[in-house]
Amino acid sequence: EADTAMYQAKAAGRNRLAFFEVGMQTHIEDRLALENELAQAIPQQQLQLHLQAQFDAEGRVDGAELLLRWQHPERGLVPPDRFIPVAEKTGLIIALGDWVLQQACALLVGLRARGLNTPLSINVSPRQFRQPDFVQRVQAVLADTGAPGCGLVFEVTEGLLIDDLQETVSRMQALAELGIRFSIDDFGTGYSSLVYLKRLPLYELKIDRSFVQDTPGDPNGTAIVRMILSMAKHLGLRVVAEGVETQAQVDFLVSSGCDALQGYLYARPTPAWAWLEAQAAQPPAPETPPETPAETS
Ligand code: C2E
Ligand code: MG
Ligand code: MG
Ligand code: MG
Repeated sequence: EADTAMYQAKAAGRNRLAFFEVGMQTHIEDRLALENELAQAIPQQQLQLHLQAQFDAEGRVDGAELLLRWQHPERGLVPPDRFIPVAEKTGLIIALGDWVLQQACALLVGLRARGLNTPLSINVSPRQFRQPDFVQRVQAVLADTGAPGCGLVFEVTEGLLIDDLQETVSRMQALAELGIRFSIDDFGTGYSSLVYLKRLPLYELKIDRSFVQDTPGDPNGTAIVRMILSMAKHLGLRVVAEGVETQAQVDFLVSSGCDALQGYLYARPTPAWAWLEAQAAQPPAPETPPETPAETS
């Protein structure tokens, strides 16, 4: 009997091991396939830029964020949360980031040519920002495209600020000299110290959607948003609320002094060039959101 039990344990162990290995292998093959295909995404022209507008308290377009999309022939539309981490790990983010920057600059030139002054925000990943020649690359793209640096906002996350604050400060200053402004994305979700708020040349904070979702119902969430707004006001920073989905959130945010709102209630991300043409077709009339935000009387 003891022998049998031992045999069963071993067999089970072997089976588990075999099962584990097969699972691992599939996972690794999946990852490799995704990586290889992602490397082809630029030459195969599978990347697209979508744009989500930001609105001020009066419902006027006040900025726009560019969001990367990967249209894969078999996988369909792969969301950035799935491929950006892979790109970050493999280094492909450098090529993707360059592509986004070039497209953003082309869009900026297109906007300015149509008399539109909307600034464009792009997401800059830590690995992209930390490239030794990042500043020179940005400078080169601005020069090539003729885009004004002052039309660009770089969204970075708190994760960038944990490592080498001094290096980050000097690099941001160099980019700021090109006119580029900086925004902290997903503000409040990272683990970095608030020390950076006074040391970095910042323009904006984006309140993470997880906090916005809690307003106005949840007292703790509401308190956090109020605190961020008050702190930002004292520091002279613009505040954008991310993921605004309800009129109750708009009412709360606008009456609490939030500068700009971004979310499905106002506009979903849409193909960037189509948005640009639509904007150009109807200036100077302001775009109106589905529901007009409450007046701040
Ligand atoms: P993020 O920069 O925080 O972008 C905001 C995300 O929230 C976007 O998801 C946007 O579509 C989504 N969103 C906007 N309004 C709402 C709303 O009302 N409700 C909900 N539920 N979601 C809303 P998306 O486009 O899937 O992008 C996810 C993340 O991928 C971005 O988060 C950003 O971190 C990253 N990402 C996107 N494009 C790029 C890029 O070009 N470069 C880099 N490095 N990262 C990017
Ligand atoms: Mg962002
Ligand atoms: Mg965000
Ligand atoms: Mg995010």
